[in-house]
Amino acid sequence: MKKLKLYGNADAPELYPIRDFLKRSVVAFEWIDLNHSADKQPSIEFPDGQLLVNPTLEQIAQNLGWINKPKYKEYDLSIYGAGPAGLSAAVYAASEGLKTVLIEREAIGGQAGTSSLIENYMGFPDGISGAELAERARQQALKFGVEILLLREGVKGTFYDNRIHVDFSNGEQLVAKANICATGVEYARLNLEGEDRFFHKGVYYGAGASEANFCQDKDLFIVGGGNSAGQAASFFSKFAKRVFMVIRRGCLADTLSEYLVKRINSIENIHVLYHSQVTALEGDELLERIRISNTEEGTEIWYETSKLFICIGGKPNTEWASETAICRDVNGYLYTGSDLLGLDKYQSCWDLDRHPYHLETSVPGSFAAGDVRFNSVKRVASAVGEGAMAVTQVHQYLAKL
Ligand SMILES: Cc1cc2nc3c(=O)[nH]c(=O)nc-3n(C[C@H](O)[C@H](O)[C@H](O)COP(=O)(O)OP(=O)(O)OC[C@H]3O[C@@H](n4cnc5c(N)ncnc54)[C@H](O)[C@@H]3O)c2cc1C
Repeated sequence: MKKLKLYGNADAPELYPIRDFLKRSVVAFEWIDLNHSADKQPSIEFPDGQLLVNPTLEQIAQNLGWINKPKYKEYDLSIYGAGPAGLSAAVYAASEGLKTVLIEREAIGGQAGTSSLIENYMGFPDGISGAELAERARQQALKFGVEILLLREGVKGTFYDNRIHVDFSNGEQLVAKANICATGVEYARLNLEGEDRFFHKGVYYGAGASEANFCQDKDLFIVGGGNSAGQAASFFSKFAKRVFMVIRRGCLADTLSEYLVKRINSIENIHVLYHSQVTALEGDELLERIRISNTEEGTEIWYETSKLFICIGGKPNTEWASETAICRDVNGYLYTGSDLLGLDKYQSCWDLDRHPYHLETSVPGSFAAGDVRFNSVKRVASAVGEGAMAVTQVHQYLAKL
């Protein structure tokens, strides 16, 4: 098949989102550098000869046949987010006969779609790129009849008449009997060169306890001065040779609870690097060393390490639920199942004579799967598993409507 042709200057910032979108969507394209010719505008040429000058993502997706109007007035199931959880839910739901629509605000694949090689997902001993995994899932979902609405963002949900009514940012509205929220998380990153490459190969977002055994007798670094970073430092100090906390400020008490400040100060193998930032990462296959700049002293020092935990927060994409009866934790993660039972808000809004299903939120028929869920595992496999589980619970819910 003939490739798209993308014309532009390599360093033009407006072309990065287009290249990123095409790459994540596994659309092969030929790059033609305009070498800063003053009279030429960035443009894209489609195999049928059509040329778009200064194209938007919407125009490109439209030309690829990916932007459609919803076919139906109402669906059995609407799924928000086409990362691993949403894609898996779409495959199972459609293959089991539900009239299903999948809504994605960016490119298919979610966070996983940005991973160059996922090596720990079962069934791919040589690894698979996130974009390819997502593209396979997209094709599978389409094969079973899922309708995919791309570059649409759900911005507000309202629940009445046993239906979820969702407003899109473009003004459209979509109605379904049940929904699965699989809108994932956006982690705060350091935005350093190589950060993606070392993801899970020495660079971690958050500080999973699962890594403890791999930190035995090593020097490890935790970026951040908040409670999650402090708790992680305290926990890892039992395993690691030395734990370094890298913080921008000159004082832990500004950002950390008092009990943690005391604890950190009392543990001998925790060292706090004040006024400091990680400014470079290096290594071959795995992370081997990081550079830390001290802004007060003006120094830059390289440290040997294979473990860097970035604990500077992240945010689940759940703004759409802010005005609903859906219970979220202080950070915005969606509570589901038994995690809801002790919450006042849940007690006041849930009036069915059954408890919520394991992946059901505090609104009957509204489910959550993957990273967006409170206490989720944050892995491709678990997101895929939860997508499939949520569909089973959607069936149980619909059967009783
Ligand atoms: C660089 C990188 C590499 C990784 N590598 C691995 C790995 O090797 N192995 C592993 O197990 N895990 C890996 N992970 C973690 C894994 O990708 C995530 O745990 C997984 O993607 C979570 O899937 P999800 O479907 O829950 O959410 P996400 O992947 O976050 O997908 C959510 C989707 O929802 C969309 N969305 C958000 N809000 C809206 C809205 N309002 N309307 C419509 N759409 C919306 C987003 O655009 C996104 O596409 C990696 C993560 C990153 C960032």
